[in-house]
Amino acid sequence: MDKHWSEMNKEMQALIAKKATFKDGIGKLLELRKSLFEQITQIVTTFPEEAFWQMPFAGAEGYHSKTLAYSIWHIFRIEDIVAHEMIAEDQQVLFRLDFQTAIRSPIITTGNELAGEEIVDFSKQLDVRALYRYAREVMESTNGILSSLEYPDLKRKFGADMVEKLGATGCVSGDESARWLIGYWCSKDVLGLVKMPFSRHWIMHIEAMRSIKNRLCRQARRGADPIAYCGFSCNHCFLAEWCGSCRTAYNTCSFATISPDGKCPNAVCCQGKGIDGCYECDQLETCEKGFYTPSNDGANAARVQAMYIRKHGKKEFLKVHDRLHEKYDFAKTQEILGQDWQEGLRILEES
Ligand code: SF4
Ligand code: SF4
Repeated sequence: MDKHWSEMNKEMQALIAKKATFKDGIGKLLELRKSLFEQITQIVTTFPEEAFWQMPFAGAEGYHSKTLAYSIWHIFRIEDIVAHEMIAEDQQVLFRLDFQTAIRSPIITTGNELAGEEIVDFSKQLDVRALYRYAREVMESTNGILSSLEYPDLKRKFGADMVEKLGATGCVSGDESARWLIGYWCSKDVLGLVKMPFSRHWIMHIEAMRSIKNRLCRQARRGADPIAYCGFSCNHCFLAEWCGSCRTAYNTCSFATISPDGKCPNAVCCQGKGIDGCYECDQLETCEKGFYTPSNDGANAARVQAMYIRKHGKKEFLKVHDRLHEKYDFAKTQEILGQDWQEGLRILEES
């Protein structure tokens, strides 16, 4: 489990278990959920549509054997059912805001009953943007429910009437791969539910989503030009595990993820000018876009590398990078090329 999330989760569990620190524990839980939800936001805003139904770990055991769209649907259907049917005892977000129509989902269940190609077919049918809005609505409404809980509420238990009620909603499939869920939820008190569908269940699935997206990025980079538009080498980039290259639909470099349209400004600008990369641009020396933003500590390194490519070509540049990595132990090129472009260019040319 991700160390940061695991520690936050442990801290939250210790805090909510005591009356004196219960509210701090809820605060920690909301913080954890915020951090986890940011991962979903990043994936939804930067990944292409096709990424949401791909199953790069098909046939494997575990949460990563699903798709990104299925994972989002599953996390938030379970949360919606548990938060609203069991704890708040009001209407689920799915029905209250008619999200099923917007998402175009053929089912209202948690999806546990689906397997293999059924998951892919299901995922292809979903409107991912609507699914994301649904996930956000569910998260916010659950946050409200969690914030209104008092310490004694944690001991609240659920009986046969809740089992019956949940069964009648039709939100859990009668298939044996799914029907155990109702008994599982009803065997827990509110504390047990806080510890699973609202926290740990998120961590497990969002970690799996991270594995799926990283695998998709690696697959996308295969065969793509390894020189980024800005002049970095994808073959030597410390972000390469997470980024599918600015030359593919999996353009999730750091500047793409922080740009409102989810696209790297250097890639967009080069494409607009119809050039292969910033190394073909006559504004390279003075440009302040994307990776060349003066406040970016890698701005000089990116510019120097683009200058090198302009002078010596891409092939030579990749060879120099290999030599540079053999010679020095470094993660980021800015650690070697520094902040002075003349000095940086000299280092590259003498390597
Ligand atoms: S961040 Fe840039 S250099 Fe690194 S892998 Fe992505 S596109 Fe390539
Ligand atoms: S203006 Fe800047 S971002 Fe655009 S192509 Fe030229 S160097 Fe690259």
